Amino acid sequence: MSVPPAGTALAGGTHGPRALRPLLDTVLDALTTGAEDRAGPLPPGGPDTVARAVRDACHPLLPDHGTGAHAALRTLVHTLAAGAADPADPHCAAHLHCPPLALATAADLAAAALNPSLDSWDQAPAASTLETLTSRALAALVYPQAAEPDALITTGGTESNQLALLLAREAIPAPGRPHTGPLQIVCGANAHHSIHRSAWLLGLPEPLTLPTPNGILAPDTVHTCLANLTGHTGPVLLTATAGTTNSGAIDPLTDLADLADHHGARFHIDAAYGGALLFSDTHHTALTGLARAHTVALDLHKLGWQPVAAGLLAVPDPSALAALTHQADYLNADDDTEAGLPDLLHRSLRTTRRPDILKIAVTLKALGRRGLGELIDRTLAAAQTLADLIEDHPRYELHSRPTLSTVLFRPIGADDTTLATIRRTLLTDGQAVLGRATTPTGLWLKATLLNPHTQTGDLTTLLKLVEGHIPR
Ligand SMILES: *Cc1c(COP(=O)(O)O)cnc(C)c1O
Repeated sequence: MSVPPAGTALAGGTHGPRALRPLLDTVLDALTTGAEDRAGPLPPGGPDTVARAVRDACHPLLPDHGTGAHAALRTLVHTLAAGAADPADPHCAAHLHCPPLALATAADLAAAALNPSLDSWDQAPAASTLETLTSRALAALVYPQAAEPDALITTGGTESNQLALLLAREAIPAPGRPHTGPLQIVCGANAHHSIHRSAWLLGLPEPLTLPTPNGILAPDTVHTCLANLTGHTGPVLLTATAGTTNSGAIDPLTDLADLADHHGARFHIDAAYGGALLFSDTHHTALTGLARAHTVALDLHKLGWQPVAAGLLAVPDPSALAALTHQADYLNADDDTEAGLPDLLHRSLRTTRRPDILKIAVTLKALGRRGLGELIDRTLAAAQTLADLIEDHPRYELHSRPTLSTVLFRPIGADDTTLATIRRTLLTDGQAVLGRATTPTGLWLKATLLNPHTQTGDLTTLLKLVEGHIPR
């Protein structure tokens, strides 16, 4: 086979790596020069400036005659890097937007080059086995007592929550308790927005949303709600959060599991943010009760340092996934399955599906549970340090001690408009990326720390940057 020029060479086979290597040099150089040009957590100038730079670099986006591989990679990768919000910068701390590990990113390149698709064995012979083994190992962390725990690999908490609600909707009723009404979801006001959206998508009634004035579900509020649902003729799903998006708080999981048991409700825990504490010897006890849920959502593209996407939905037993059984003759024909070809179609609602498992498996193997646990411990310690600095600072108030790695704070006496302006000014100056959270005590600035290498000096500087914008 003759070797095609760089622009049309393929990534696979024995020639693929040879075609990739010089292209990667161009990509890595462009990532470097882009980050140098940006020189901060975010490009300065705001949306119009960034959009103009991208428009100029792209134009013309679909030329009659292309520029060739290196020029296109150089221009667009440089432009994207120069215009990126880079979570590897310790002052980029707005969202659950993690800096990916270099090793996971390298593994993801291999996933792209090989391009297995996890909807049938004949597109992913080794990748499907790797997915089976890795998802079982992760599910065993969530359900250590279960004989055969399993997990679906998802695009993140949103898809995991959606699948959890679907599995609850499709669950077979207990003998003697036939359901005539629809599934009723009960959640807290602290629940992720995807719970409501999934209910809408699945044609379920609006979730009963209980107040969470302290940021977490109160067991007596949940008890009262479940007790008052006796007239409801359908199943009930209680959903809790382990690591809320606003403040990183963890609902009282054991109490809620007891209440779900007592009232015959199903129980789902959205641990998209906090679930990775399972890796930590220091912090895993914060998740006591997790294994009592019928389904658990967990994201490794938050505390887990994976490039997007790396989500999981864990279940204690593969039979919990029976509702997802589906057949398409060209992907999982009965005779193929009988002849021993693994049937993969029930592992997702997607069809073509990338091997996100490779980067996860590489990370688990390279760092081990301890190595990942240490990254988690360091990240949570950085949040405690930031909280200490805020408490000791005369011009700031702290919302509450952090549970995970989210710290809410504000300048003393700042009203909501001032706070919102400070956040946007830092953003448009490209100095710092902070989030915002509305709580019963008003608006707060939110620092979501996900960079395990953040130093105390970075946090001191961050507070100085904010202080520079407090009106006198
Ligand atoms: C991030 C998050 C989600 C959504 O997950 P995606 O990966 O963004 O789809 C859901 N729930 C919680 C608690 C989260 O933190």
